[in-house]
Amino acid sequence: MSHDPDCLFCKIVAGQIPSRKAYEDELVLAFHDIHPWAPVHVLIVPKQHIAMMSELGDEHVQLLGHMSVLAPKLMRDLGVTNGFRTVINTGPDGGQEVYHLHMHVMGGPRPWLKG
Ligand code: 5GP
Ligand code: ZN
Repeated sequence: MSHDPDCLFCKIVAGQIPSRKAYEDELVLAFHDIHPWAPVHVLIVPKQHIAMMSELGDEHVQLLGHMSVLAPKLMRDLGVTNGFRTVINTGPDGGQEVYHLHMHVMGGPRPWLKG
């Protein structure tokens, strides 16, 4: 499985940097964002290093499906009952800061959500 030794989220996946884990299986890790934008803000990341969404190929279809199916289950497990938002930022103009693919999953009471 590809691993970039200079990548922050690869280090989190490897346990070299601590995180507050929400879920883990053989394909993905989910952990709480260090600067949450919402009452519940989790990042779902593939364990393999993929820099961003624009690098995805047909071989990643199952992985992305897995992440999408996991998001609502995670929110339910974390007590989010009234909906949530998912975001994947891609590239500089997409506001991406960490170049290891991740899905933001944000839930909780709505006043935080503008626009
Ligand atoms: P991006 O802008 O790349 O889509 O989002 C990166 C996210 O990673 C940001 O929401 C930021 O708060 C989060 N983040 C950055 N560094 C760390 C870290 O060391 N630990 C955790 N848990 N989250 C981080
Ligand atoms: Zn990485």
